[in-house]
Amino acid sequence: AKHAGAADQKSRRQLQLAQTEARKHAFIGDEEVEILAAELGLELIKTQPKVIDVKPAPKPEKAVYDTWPARPPVVTIMGHVDHGKTTLLDALRSTHIAAGEAGGITQAIGAFEVGLQGKSVTFLDTPGHEAFTSMRLRGATCTDIVVLVVAVDSGVKAQTLEAISHARAAGASIIVALNKVDVVGTDPNRVMGELASEAELIVEQVGGDTPCVPISAKQRTNLDSLIEMILLQAEILELRGNPAANAEAICIEARLDPKMGGVIANCVNRQGTLHVGDVVVAGTTWGRVRSLISFTGGHLKQVGPSQPFALLGLKEVLQGGEDVIQVESESKAQEVVAFRQKKIEDQLALRDTKIAIGRAHADKRTRKEILSNDPSLLHAKNKWKLAKAWREHADAEKQQQEGTITLNLVLKADTRGGADALMHTMEGMELEGAQTRVVHVGIGAVNNSDITLAAVDKGIVINFCSQAGSGAKGDKVLANAISPALKAEALQHGVTIMNSNVIFRLLEKLEEFVELKRTGGE
Ligand code: GDP
Repeated sequence: AKHAGAADQKSRRQLQLAQTEARKHAFIGDEEVEILAAELGLELIKTQPKVIDVKPAPKPEKAVYDTWPARPPVVTIMGHVDHGKTTLLDALRSTHIAAGEAGGITQAIGAFEVGLQGKSVTFLDTPGHEAFTSMRLRGATCTDIVVLVVAVDSGVKAQTLEAISHARAAGASIIVALNKVDVVGTDPNRVMGELASEAELIVEQVGGDTPCVPISAKQRTNLDSLIEMILLQAEILELRGNPAANAEAICIEARLDPKMGGVIANCVNRQGTLHVGDVVVAGTTWGRVRSLISFTGGHLKQVGPSQPFALLGLKEVLQGGEDVIQVESESKAQEVVAFRQKKIEDQLALRDTKIAIGRAHADKRTRKEILSNDPSLLHAKNKWKLAKAWREHADAEKQQQEGTITLNLVLKADTRGGADALMHTMEGMELEGAQTRVVHVGIGAVNNSDITLAAVDKGIVINFCSQAGSGAKGDKVLANAISPALKAEALQHGVTIMNSNVIFRLLEKLEEFVELKRTGGE
């Protein structure tokens, strides 16, 4: 268990390297594999691997859902740097500790509960959108409500707009907290106007339906109203949980803690009730729950829907955003973990194969010659059967979602005019077999937030800059302006960056992209 973190990191690194390699060489689709196999006299076996996995249960039909009791909302605080997110979290933590937990010194377990009039709210303890999206990257949506902090003495800024896009993309409900109202000479109405004009976020005060509460995090004023507003919104959203169901939690972060005697995983329970002694599968590890620790450090016998907790008992470290799901037995847990590990290994093997074939493909020499002379390719040859088997598996999954693909776009331009022009062309565009959806429009260089926003749906970041020269040369200038670290991150998450300052060139690139997708290139 000690080396789990390192091993995990190694396999991620491997995947990353493989992806980088794969991009350098030509992609190769299923048909190509078949042709090459025939050429080389290889047999491709078509198998359907048996799926042994557990997933969070889907939401039941409304009649059943309505019988469940209300659950507390799970809230993330987002907003521009220095607008007061940390101050607000600190203020809430120290003034509104949930009933029954009063007097306790809060522990850092990634989230905490706040109470008001017998009801509670769970706040994730990491402000900003990075933690939020890193969870979404793994398909996890744990946040019901985003509190968008906007400082009235500063107004709507780039990260305010990014946060709005992140919240919207995740389907979370937004509540605006207009912070720093204690600063004299500021005008909340101006900020409300900015939210409306720059993000089409219309707050209740000006006739919209987004709740907005003026607060001072520093002086701790009006925090009750903010919590009341969150509770009211939770009621409107009809958030319910089924305490009788198998537990389904989500890991916020996990680490090896020798002092605690093993892996400690900070989680928020989404569904069901988790008890000490239950068996859980968590990412590619599992365990029997040894202890459940509350955010005030107390030992809990069980945790219900929306409750944050630290979990002890997992065999290995897992990543933030991974599901922690209760299963009926240790043998079931082991079976699921073995299946998931095999799936990852096979995916890596498939990558290797694609790279090897891509290399052979790109090279001038004949494929046969390369395959017989390059030992690494011989190795890859043996993996073809495997690769094909996994293709079949992926195809089976794909069949369910046949039809038009949606291209999720993040648009970046250097000027407001450029951004507007891009938005105008790109929103809801119909391409052959695909449709576009703009998830964010921003002004300025491509940044980390753009990549994570696009990453959730393996989307596209469009880097449009009127300053760069036109044609292929201009595209190159734009591409070079993006740091290697950002490019690596894009690769890792399957995000495509398209650089151009000519709209029709971008359209061509989008069409090529769709073509590649449809022929199974990636
Ligand atoms: P974060 O980057 O969004 O987490 O912002 P911080 O919580 O670190 O706050 C940035 C600065 O704003 C700090 O100096 C805070 O003391 C100050 N600040 C936060 N809330 C308020 C407030 O309500 N009023 C005033 N006047 N200052 C505040």
